[in-house]
Amino acid sequence: MRTPPRALRTGLAAGAALVVVLWLVQAAPSFRLDALFATFAHLGGLIAAYGILVMLLLMARVPAIEHGVGADRLARWHALGGRYVLTLILSHAVLALCAYAAATGADLLTAALGLLGYPALAAATAGTAALAAVGISSARAVRRRLRHETWRALHLLTYLGAALAFGHQLAGPDLAGGPLAAWLWTMLHTTVGVLLIWYRVIVPVRQALRHRLRVTEVRTEGPGVVSVVMQGIALDALRAEPGQFFRWRFLDRRLWRTALPFSLSAPPRDDILRITVKVCGDHTRRVRRLRTGVRVLATGPFGAMTAHRRTRRKVLLLAGGVGITPMRALFETLPGGPGDLTLLYRAGSAAQLVLRDELEAIAEARGAALHYLLGPSDGPFDPLAPRALGNLVPDLPEHDVYLCGPPGMARAAITALKRAGIPASRIHAERFTF
Ligand SMILES: Cc1cc2nc3c(=O)[nH]c(=O)nc-3n(C[C@H](O)[C@H](O)[C@H](O)COP(=O)(O)OP(=O)(O)OC[C@H]3O[C@@H](n4cnc5c(N)ncnc54)[C@H](O)[C@@H]3O)c2cc1C
Repeated sequence: MRTPPRALRTGLAAGAALVVVLWLVQAAPSFRLDALFATFAHLGGLIAAYGILVMLLLMARVPAIEHGVGADRLARWHALGGRYVLTLILSHAVLALCAYAAATGADLLTAALGLLGYPALAAATAGTAALAAVGISSARAVRRRLRHETWRALHLLTYLGAALAFGHQLAGPDLAGGPLAAWLWTMLHTTVGVLLIWYRVIVPVRQALRHRLRVTEVRTEGPGVVSVVMQGIALDALRAEPGQFFRWRFLDRRLWRTALPFSLSAPPRDDILRITVKVCGDHTRRVRRLRTGVRVLATGPFGAMTAHRRTRRKVLLLAGGVGITPMRALFETLPGGPGDLTLLYRAGSAAQLVLRDELEAIAEARGAALHYLLGPSDGPFDPLAPRALGNLVPDLPEHDVYLCGPPGMARAAITALKRAGIPASRIHAERFTF
């Protein structure tokens, strides 16, 4: 089962509407200043609490959501939504403080100290601080300075923040007065908690115990690019599809602390999985030096850029740089007869092309078109301009497009494809960043 992005958005919006109804049922109309502050504090608080739950659900790695929406899109929604949720939490706190100060006539500091005496409010304040720390560490300027592992460790504070805030939500006037609403709220939180534990803890442990993956070969494919071949047991049970990726944790002294996302660069077969990795930082440099026999914990599969997205007979695969990895797997496996598939592979120069022999063998065997678009990205000729694409791919507007490449190239390609007459709904792109 796959949940399409629109269905998920509609479901989440319907949930938010129900939360507003819950607020409306409880809200007592009044134009007194303290009552107005309190009413809107409750609304902000309820939506923020629902928002925290949604943020956790988006990151729970539920296969139906991951395979329907795509991990990169979920990460973008989570990052954007997180900002709104944090803003709502802070607004809720400020409005509640103003309501209390207006009702008691106290100054803001005295009101804040008075509020902390209410049930579960000290814990909720600590929870807000934890969530604020997560938000600050995720601000672009801060995140750039943090190691990925540090940022991830700080992100674990989200669970603490959500747990501390939960008691405050149940004690608050919107839920404390309605046993049915409190029960539903608790059930909703329990469901998301169970999904998180199941898909982020139990499933990965089960997969590790069952499949027992090991590195069997590390092969150089080109300058700074290696393929890592891994063998395991009963890998067909993973039901991995070409176009998808796993999070790989190599149990090597220098790599076990982090799980790195890499796409499958060949369709899974005979209990063998293969990834192709471009060296771009510390971890990928270590991947290049992996030795055979190293145990691997693979969590997944993730990603929605698979054959199910296809709506047309003709398909254009457009790859830039190491974005060729999922395209290579799709090029071999997407159903189609001669003339149905075209692969355009953008690279700075011929020396940077990888998996070239395989691509050419697939093109010949399948009667598929393969073109290399070579040259610097700032050169005088733009091979991704609408006219250039149209010259290479006859009937371009009739195609579905699968796209994976560096952010600049992907943006330029999407603009060109739309100008060439392909609607956004037929451009299936994946980014290699979360
Ligand atoms: C869905 C997906 C599929 C990918 N497939 C491939 C592929 O097939 N081949 C390939 O060469 N690259 C692929 N990448 C990119 C690859 O994961 C990164 O280049 C690699 O993790 C960078 O590691 P580094 O420490 O060497 O580089 P750094 O320079 O330290 O990091 C470069 C970027 O990678 C991010 N990053 C670092 N560690 C992680 C992590 N554990 N999880 C998520 N992001 C991290 C950093 O935040 C930074 O933005 C993919 C990325 C994603 C999101």
